Amino acid sequence: MNSSILVLGAGMVGTCTALHLQQRGFDVTLVDRRAPGQETSMGNAGLIQREAVEPYAFPREPGFLLDVALGRGAQVHWHAQGLWQMGRALLRYRHHSHPQRHTQATQAYSRLIAHATAEHDPLIAAAEAQDLVSREGFRFVFRTAEAFDAAAQRAEDLHTRFGVRSQAENTAQLALAEPALQKPLAGAVHWLDPWAVNDPGALVQRYADLFVARGGRVLTGDAASLQAQGAEWSVHTTEGLVHAQQAVLALGPWSDGLIRTLGYHYPLFIKRGYHQHYTPPVPVRQPLLDAERGYVLAPMQRGLRLTTGAEFAPIDAPPTPVQLAKAEALAREWIDLGQPLPEPPWLGARPCTADMLPVMGPAPRHPGLWFNFGHAHQGFTMGPVAGRLLAEMVGGEPTCVDPMPYGPGRFG
Ligand SMILES: Cc1cc2nc3c(=O)[nH]c(=O)nc-3n(C[C@H](O)[C@H](O)[C@H](O)COP(=O)(O)OP(=O)(O)OC[C@H]3O[C@@H](n4cnc5c(N)ncnc54)[C@H](O)[C@@H]3O)c2cc1C
Repeated sequence: MNSSILVLGAGMVGTCTALHLQQRGFDVTLVDRRAPGQETSMGNAGLIQREAVEPYAFPREPGFLLDVALGRGAQVHWHAQGLWQMGRALLRYRHHSHPQRHTQATQAYSRLIAHATAEHDPLIAAAEAQDLVSREGFRFVFRTAEAFDAAAQRAEDLHTRFGVRSQAENTAQLALAEPALQKPLAGAVHWLDPWAVNDPGALVQRYADLFVARGGRVLTGDAASLQAQGAEWSVHTTEGLVHAQQAVLALGPWSDGLIRTLGYHYPLFIKRGYHQHYTPPVPVRQPLLDAERGYVLAPMQRGLRLTTGAEFAPIDAPPTPVQLAKAEALAREWIDLGQPLPEPPWLGARPCTADMLPVMGPAPRHPGLWFNFGHAHQGFTMGPVAGRLLAEMVGGEPTCVDPMPYGPGRFG
């Protein structure tokens, strides 16, 4: 066995990969330019989404593209340069979202999601992070009876096909469950299996602390300095040049930039998203998705976190938090958010692939290099199973899930 390995990127995915490799006897160095869990894995809605068995498809509703083009609604925003940069990948995303192909993607996606809570559980326990996690599910709430009925039907279908548990709640049941609601809504689907984390960045940091307590090294360095040197890989860190026999790229939304320098042109794109915290006078008990408007309200240690839908813009383009303003206005229609915390809106990016499946496995043309990125809307959820699967592949063990659908080779 090649025993030393670099893991580049200390988000949820990289940190869990490091832990699983370490558990298998590898000498692991985890490298990031920042402290663990300071980027996408920090700013998300904190949901461990056991219910998210279907990957997020390109919407096909009539009128959707016109609404997006005219800037109507809060769900999508775009920069012309973003569409230009990501256009080809987005067209492929639309192609893969055809119902037949989406059903196939769901088969592969749901196999990972099935492990979500079961794989977080032992890490939460070992990292003594129970104080960060609530296990009471979360709600999709609905403004109209038609949307609620359709969602309740879909929830039943997901239960039959994937064993995902939920409870439909009518107007009165929802009002009782969430006293913060100021006006009656049509109802809610309360997903019972997901967990909610009240400080997602802190959970990654606790996992990283566990990795260090077990003898792992976390170093500050730039993944762009990665080089193949003979049969080894090296990267520059503040502790000097670090060598290892193998390396894993787990750079989330920055992965595309790095793999391009290695000659891999995959159909990757990003969906940027924002968050802002508020101080509601009546606390929200469990996270809520305003399902017909496309934003989440999630109670966090810092306050009530509002997270937005997708913005198609270059990763380094200046923030344009128009969706945040729209979502805030929509949320104020049914909840007293109180004041926003005096902080600039947070901006991050979901690392997406055209076929909606993550990229996990050996780099096709670089022996000793492995990829683990592209977990899109559910990377926080899938970090532990993604880490385990990658570590099993590196170690040449039987894998918990058939890795074939996620193999980098599918993109050439
Ligand atoms: C608004 C929003 C809400 C979301 N809500 C949820 C949710 O509720 N549940 C869920 O499961 N998912 C959610 N997601 C998606 C989830 O956050 C991501 O899929 C996940 O965080 C990706 O994890 P990662 O480890 O791959 O990437 P990251 O967390 O971004 O980690 C990548 C790491 O690479 C490092 N890095 C990058 N470039 C370099 C370099 N050159 N050198 C060194 N280090 C580098 C970064 O510093 C970073 O630490 C949400 C995303 C957004 C934007």
